[in-house]
Amino acid sequence: MKLHLLDNGVLLLGKENPVLLDRNEAETSNDIPVHSFLLDTSIGYILFDCACDDEGMKVWPEWLKQTPYQPGENGTVVDSLRKIGIQPEEIKYVVLSHMHVDHMGCLKYFPAARTLVSAEEFISVMKNYATDQLTDTFHVKTDIENSLKAGIRWQLMYEESMQLCDEVTVYHLGPGHSYGMLALLVKGENGNYILASDAVYSKAHYGPPAQMAGVCIDEAGYYRTIEKIRAISEVNNAEVFFGHDMNQFKELQKRYASGTL
Ligand SMILES: [Zn+2]
Repeated sequence: MKLHLLDNGVLLLGKENPVLLDRNEAETSNDIPVHSFLLDTSIGYILFDCACDDEGMKVWPEWLKQTPYQPGENGTVVDSLRKIGIQPEEIKYVVLSHMHVDHMGCLKYFPAARTLVSAEEFISVMKNYATDQLTDTFHVKTDIENSLKAGIRWQLMYEESMQLCDEVTVYHLGPGHSYGMLALLVKGENGNYILASDAVYSKAHYGPPAQMAGVCIDEAGYYRTIEKIRAISEVNNAEVFFGHDMNQFKELQKRYASGTL
């Protein structure tokens, strides 16, 4: 199984942005990476997370534009895929770690795929959308509307874990950072990895001891999701890839470029 790291650019955060709270002083960069992973597996291509909407800076609410999205050198996720010779229609599964703006923005380009999402996340977000109460941080109306217009083939995950193929297992971590968080355990050519996304923002948040992050829906659940990841990591001897850790992202870019990821 080959793992591709897709650089979708950065979010430029203000100093007071909640994503940066409680990070180590050594990690004070105000840019956080917005990346996806493409897994080339025995059952086809699996995409983990979909970056920000490439038209977000036109359609986002004003407060969100204060956290500008700047696409990467190759553009955003669809451009990154095309650069490695893959068309959006070829993606078999999209796995959404959660439905925040920097993880589902380009989902609209993948109506041919099955999109796996936490049932709790989907039901809570769609209920809030339908009752005009989508007011929590980082769930954005235009993303939901784009997904409805595109006719996304949602598959809600209720199970605690689901093996998609020999090399990939999806874990439902439950509520914490958002209403329901998914993570992947990936058995790659060069090692085992957990794609944790925003269940753990960075190495500093992972600890041990785990540190609280600025965006959190369920505080006890947040710590529980991190300890679940730690347990999965220990059992499978798997390295944890964090959601928005710039230092780790740069290291992963080097490993991807040298073919050792
Ligand atoms: Zn998030």
